[in-house]
Amino acid sequence: MGTEFSGLVAVVTGGASGIGAAIARRLRDGGARVAVFDLRPDDAEHADLAVAVDVADDASVRAGIEHVAASLGRIDIVVNNAGIGAQGTIEANADDEWHRVLDINVLGMVRVARAALPYLRRSPAAAIVNTSSIAATAGLPERALYSASKGAVAALTRAMAADHLREGIRVNAVNPGTADTPWIGRLLASAADPAAERAALEARQPHGRLVSADEVAEAVAYLAGPGAGSTTGIALAVDGGMQELRLRPA
Ligand code: NAD
Repeated sequence: MGTEFSGLVAVVTGGASGIGAAIARRLRDGGARVAVFDLRPDDAEHADLAVAVDVADDASVRAGIEHVAASLGRIDIVVNNAGIGAQGTIEANADDEWHRVLDINVLGMVRVARAALPYLRRSPAAAIVNTSSIAATAGLPERALYSASKGAVAALTRAMAADHLREGIRVNAVNPGTADTPWIGRLLASAADPAAERAALEARQPHGRLVSADEVAEAVAYLAGPGAGSTTGIALAVDGGMQELRLRPA
């Protein structure tokens, strides 16, 4: 158990599953009190406070932030992690699906950060970490809408970092590669031979395996923590080398 987050309060969206659950656990292990915002708060295993929040609903987000501030007294760290997937080329999804995914994956992060800013401004250790993706940089086939949403998160992260730098609020992103979470489990379960599909997926990764949710959580903890006090506006890749080595998914 660490102490780097002792006395601090973190909000983790999508913290009831996968990467978000690993982030919530890691921040609590570091001494933070953690509020999870999720559509399924009852599934949150690592939370001091689990709140039913839909990041696509501004009133729900604002009520959630006020509930955290009233219950836990402060907000120091926001991890904007909730997100959904979308498959296909630009022809695969109609406008309403584009609006839905961008509403959750991009505006969802704006809403939570906007509602939390008044509290973050009062924190001596304020940090926002946004979960982007390798899709923001790699040009993945058949992921047009998802990639557009995560590319927007990358640009949003840099813009927010610039806007809030002098307020003492750092804003960074993580770019996970394909990570072993229930999300990927659901995709594999729909294949004719899930075990073979999983082996093929692992073989396509640069380091021959999926990224673990704990590895992403460790990167988020670094970016949210005191050791990254001079780091803002970056996207930290946790992808087996895909982004920095300019590797292409096979
Ligand atoms: P997951 O499906 O296991 O968990 C996502 C969580 O977000 C769920 O608990 C879900 O209930 C919650 N959520 C979804 N929509 C929400 C909403 N509107 N409001 C509140 N909560 C909502 O997914 P994961 O694999 O852990 O992915 C988490 C994040 O990581 C996402 O932003 C995703 O785009 C990103 N990511 C995942 C991978 C991967 O391979 N798994 C790779 C790169 C980036």
